[in-house]
Amino acid sequence: MSKINIAVVGGGIAGLALAAGLAKKLHLSVHVYEAVGEYLDVGAGLALHRNAIRAMALLGPEHKDELVAKLGRAKGRKSGPKIQLKFVTGMSTFADCLLGADGVPSVTRSYLLGPDHPATGPKNHGEEARKQINPTWKTSVPILPGPSGHINCTPLNRNTRLSAGVAVRDDHDHAPFYSCNNVAMLGDAAHASLPFAGNGAAQALEDAAVLNYIVTAQQAFRQVRRPRSQSVVDLARKLGRVYAFAEDGMHGDPMRTKAFFAEMAAFTNDFDVESQNHEALGPFRQSLEGDVDARVWSPPVLSN
Ligand SMILES: Cc1cc2nc3c(=O)[nH]c(=O)nc-3n(C[C@H](O)[C@H](O)[C@H](O)COP(=O)(O)OP(=O)(O)OC[C@H]3O[C@@H](n4cnc5c(N)ncnc54)[C@H](O)[C@@H]3O)c2cc1C
Repeated sequence: MSKINIAVVGGGIAGLALAAGLAKKLHLSVHVYEAVGEYLDVGAGLALHRNAIRAMALLGPEHKDELVAKLGRAKGRKSGPKIQLKFVTGMSTFADCLLGADGVPSVTRSYLLGPDHPATGPKNHGEEARKQINPTWKTSVPILPGPSGHINCTPLNRNTRLSAGVAVRDDHDHAPFYSCNNVAMLGDAAHASLPFAGNGAAQALEDAAVLNYIVTAQQAFRQVRRPRSQSVVDLARKLGRVYAFAEDGMHGDPMRTKAFFAEMAAFTNDFDVESQNHEALGPFRQSLEGDVDARVWSPPVLSN
């Protein structure tokens, strides 16, 4: 049996987590293409919330996605036109399916939405600049809010270092879709978020868990993942305003602030990641029933 050739572009959290899951499927041949030759310690910390941990657990076991693999084979689908990847060296290769996990300035996003789409490039939806500092404090002080700036602190290396991120980076306007036929984007490429919800990597891992479950069923992926991941992007913007004392009366009302944080933490962290995978099966089955041929290439329909 010839294998389905999957190209994962980008070896960050999203790309590597997805590849680790896909590499266990015997009917797939998975290649990860990463632009940089070496990962460096930039002194930044990452908090992985409960939804991230659950998504990683779903990427572990092999048996859970057998059903989907069998469904796909039973219908005898053939892959459509291959995708060509061109490298700066002048070399190129082909893949049956391209999964772009290439971060904020994503080539895959530009390919899917078009280079001129208003949601293709990052925009500043927060503050002007972000600077990483490494103070000598060792105590965990998660967030220092304030009207003229706020600092996010994450303890590193078992509380022997503290990473403090000041202010922000850009995020994207919401993409109207995450995939088209045999190309999909995931992680920051699909839904880069301001860091205030501490959930960008977690959302990348949720993407990887769903894509790992349904493999190349792009319609199911976008139907299930777009609403939730874009809600988290909106939430991060709102949290940024709360930290800056700029959210409508929140600063003067500690009880309201506390209730808001509890509700938002439940929304991101206590999410049922496994049910999300099962939910993706509905549209996936539909696509197998023939009303949508997810594999035949046609240009994406853009909406503003
Ligand atoms: C200061 C800061 C703090 C954060 N804190 C948290 C947190 O506490 N919790 C949390 O969940 N999230 C957090 N995040 C967000 C999280 O880091 C990101 O959401 C996550 O790293 C996104 O992973 P990714 O794999 O999608 O993208 P990236 O990590 O950006 O990886 C993309 C990869 O693709 C490669 N690439 C790019 N273009 C190409 C190309 N053309 N060809 C090949 N390779 C390419 C890049 O070199 C890179 O390795 C934080 C982010 C920042 C900046």
